[in-house]
Amino acid sequence: MSNKNLQLISAEELHAMATQMHDNCTCALKICKGWESVPDARWPADQMHAVGTLRQELPEGQMELTFEEFHPNGTRYDSSNAPIAVDYFPYNRCDVFKCSTCQCAVLKYTEFGGYYVDTRARLVDPEMIVARSAKA
Ligand SMILES: [Zn+2]
Repeated sequence: MSNKNLQLISAEELHAMATQMHDNCTCALKICKGWESVPDARWPADQMHAVGTLRQELPEGQMELTFEEFHPNGTRYDSSNAPIAVDYFPYNRCDVFKCSTCQCAVLKYTEFGGYYVDTRARLVDPEMIVARSAKA
């Protein structure tokens, strides 16, 4: 993958990044409280800079990252209050971007369907991040 040279970011580091956000910016991704489809044309590439990835190395013998989701409180994939659980889908496929103006942290991954490629983004709310140790 193209993100091989991005540094792996832990839940703690992601939390630290997300808490640096301030409000003096109108970047388009602020609306992505839950996962939103963001076509390339709407992605503010001049403001957003890749700072790392949540994508872990595959354990030996495992063909694919898990598609299991983490919703202990009955949330759904696209709930705005769904936990950001870095070991679970789709967070385990995300790269991490920061806005150069307001320092907001945004997660982004690409979903490959049978006939489509869809880019999804979610603004990181630090309150929603679940530490790696929460995994059962
Ligand atoms: Zn911004």
